[in-house]
Amino acid sequence: MILRPIDRRRELEALLKPPSGPGVYVDFAISLALKHAWRVNRSTDAGPAHASWRADYWVHTMYVHPLDSDEAFAAYLHEAGHLEDPLLPERPRSHEQPSDSMASIEAEVFAWLFAITCAGYRWNRAMQATLEKSLATYVSFVDTFEEGGYHQRCLLNAVINHGREQARHIVRTLGTPAPPISPLLAEFYQQVSLT
Ligand SMILES: [Zn+2]
Repeated sequence: MILRPIDRRRELEALLKPPSGPGVYVDFAISLALKHAWRVNRSTDAGPAHASWRADYWVHTMYVHPLDSDEAFAAYLHEAGHLEDPLLPERPRSHEQPSDSMASIEAEVFAWLFAITCAGYRWNRAMQATLEKSLATYVSFVDTFEEGGYHQRCLLNAVINHGREQARHIVRTLGTPAPPISPLLAEFYQQVSLT
């Protein structure tokens, strides 16, 4: 069944609006989902704000909870980043990493860079804390003595620092550039498409 846009919007509202309170950037999240044709489903896993969120690239679907906090909004944009990753199927995976299906440092770096870029001025310290908490596992898993390990560690640090810089909320009026992109992230950044 094809849903009319108005029905799609209502369906997304039902999924993303928290039971009480206005939620965090719910309208923005809905307009992004409509624009990019993301399929959004309720995660059936209980659990803390970001732990049970996931994305299934092959069916362009993410499994989420209501956007009741900055953390939840950051997790939403992060999962969307996996759906919008043009290179996800080719990103290297390491058996050294946690055994979930997204255990690719490159994929994580891309998805967080997408989240930061997509959030723009909305990116704040609570969203950044979500990023850092999520990447902490990967940071601790990277073996810098392994081939490529040092580069992966640098990539993780680069996206963490980029998010911190964005969260500092230095007033940037129209026409002034966003925080500078580290040369390490440049290739990833070119793959981010918000249109
Ligand atoms: Zn991820």
